[in-house]
Amino acid sequence: MNKGGIFLISGPSGSGKDTLLVKLFKKRPDIEFSISSITRPMREGEIEGEKYNFITRENFEDMLKNDMLLEYNVYAGNYYGTPKMPVINAIENGKDIIIEVDVNGAAKIREKLPQAVSIFIMPPSYEVLRNRLSRRATETQEVIDKRMEIALLEIARATEYDYIVVNDDLSAAVEDIISVITNSRLLLNRQKHIIDEVLKNAKS
Ligand code: ADP
Ligand code: 5GP
Repeated sequence: MNKGGIFLISGPSGSGKDTLLVKLFKKRPDIEFSISSITRPMREGEIEGEKYNFITRENFEDMLKNDMLLEYNVYAGNYYGTPKMPVINAIENGKDIIIEVDVNGAAKIREKLPQAVSIFIMPPSYEVLRNRLSRRATETQEVIDKRMEIALLEIARATEYDYIVVNDDLSAAVEDIISVITNSRLLLNRQKHIIDEVLKNAKS
């Protein structure tokens, strides 16, 4: 069986990652999503187990001790981590899985799983990013200014990614991500077993 592919998605806050992924999973329910375990309090409207598992600091530290995380980060005083087993299970079961992770987390996962394909979501411009963050109205002006500063550092690291998807027209950006996922199924490293199988059968 073909192994599943791992797709890392990063981009500055407000670049549209969540909006793109909601649309993508509606079109492609066969693709899995890696649910992060995090210790920050749940925000209004968030649902346990949808994007995040909200756990205690104690439980998170147990996961760390037991080597259950592929990577983790501390962001604004809270832990955010990618549980290892769901990712391993997806690959082994031939399922593609998307991991939404910050630039540091993506770098750590690439070290452990070099076959991961990474996609950076770019806003069409810095001003559009600011407008989207302001219109989303989920943060104060101070937090928006801070996120705009962090965005510059993140965008400077977009060169570490395999693909850049500019989120200008939403539907076009979703199609771009889907085409990266579809095309990566054709890569040699995902299909070596087919070559081996054909050669083996030809000899027997
Ligand atoms: P992120 O998850 O990267 O922080 P969001 O998905 O929350 O970003 O998007 C930030 C804001 O921008 C939201 O209000 C969203 O509706 C809006 N948005 C996202 N993509 C587009 C787009 N292509 N065109 C216009 N607005 C968009
Ligand atoms: P938020 O609190 O706004 O949901 O997320 C804060 C930051 O943590 C975002 O940059 C988000 O992409 C990142 N993040 C979410 N899950 C993970 C994770 O599992 N690992 C890492 N390293 N970062 C994560």
